[in-house]
Amino acid sequence: MIQKIGVIGAGQMGNGIAHVCALAGYDVVLSDINEDQLTKALETIEGNMVRQVARGHISEADHAAAKGRLSTVVGLETFSDVDLAIESATEDETVKKAILEDLCQHVGSETLIATNTSSISVTRLASVTDRPEQFMGMHFMNPVPVMQLVELIRGIATSEETFGTVRELTIKLGKTPANAEDFPAFIVNRILLPMINEAVYTLYEGVGTVEAIDTAMRLGANHPMGPLTLADFIGLDTCLAVMQVLYEGLADTKYRPCPLLVKYVEAGWLGRKTGRGFYDYRGETPVPTR
Ligand code: NAD
Repeated sequence: MIQKIGVIGAGQMGNGIAHVCALAGYDVVLSDINEDQLTKALETIEGNMVRQVARGHISEADHAAAKGRLSTVVGLETFSDVDLAIESATEDETVKKAILEDLCQHVGSETLIATNTSSISVTRLASVTDRPEQFMGMHFMNPVPVMQLVELIRGIATSEETFGTVRELTIKLGKTPANAEDFPAFIVNRILLPMINEAVYTLYEGVGTVEAIDTAMRLGANHPMGPLTLADFIGLDTCLAVMQVLYEGLADTKYRPCPLLVKYVEAGWLGRKTGRGFYDYRGETPVPTR
């Protein structure tokens, strides 16, 4: 039975995962290597919960109780009694493998481990742990408190018991699970990211401006937000990482990352989280950067 959940990586996804787990009644420890990220994550969670109270989605008592169940830590020292650890650090295979190897030294032998990777092979990540049968993919959507879906991905060795426990947890978090097989980028990002990459090519080739491309897809395809706004929301480093996994994992040139996407990432213009991407968010309203 799951009572305590450890979340590794306190970025935009990690803070959302900690938020929904604490609200659903689980004890949560949120970990990062960067103390500032933990401070920022607590501020974000607080702001989002206050908004949920104001909108009547949760009560003040729910808010207070969830806050009381949430703690933070630099490193993994307080992970010894977690029943499930959810890895949600930077989308980089080397980083994730190092975290997982270290994590196995800090948790009990019964602890289940899930990864929130957007694209990397669950089987390959499981292989660096001492418990591939207790490991699987649990892919949340951004922003976690709002989005309904969690993709559940079995690695080749994932046991039925592990899968069943994580599926049950997903439902207790108020989310809807969809099962995906362990192939590059699973379902959502296999379909979504090539579309975003194509939008960047459309910009790169001068077919349209940032504004024209987003307006075209909002009003022409009835998408709730344009693909470049969405890319900024996801994080351009994550978008690029997913395209690289698709390109390498499926060995097909149709997935080659757009050079303009690479340039934005090289500039450190990663989208909303750094204040600038295809739009500049530092003023009152977002201003297109091209
Ligand atoms: P982010 O850049 O906002 O946060 C990443 C966090 O990981 C940072 O706080 C960083 O300090 C931390 N980190 C890096 N190395 C670490 C280490 N060794 N130990 C502990 N923490 C470490 O990224 P994000 O958008 O929150 O993405 C996190 C994961 O979630 C990625 O795997 C990403 O693919 C996945 N994901 C992202 C989205 C999205 O829309 N952004 C959606 C679903 C899943």
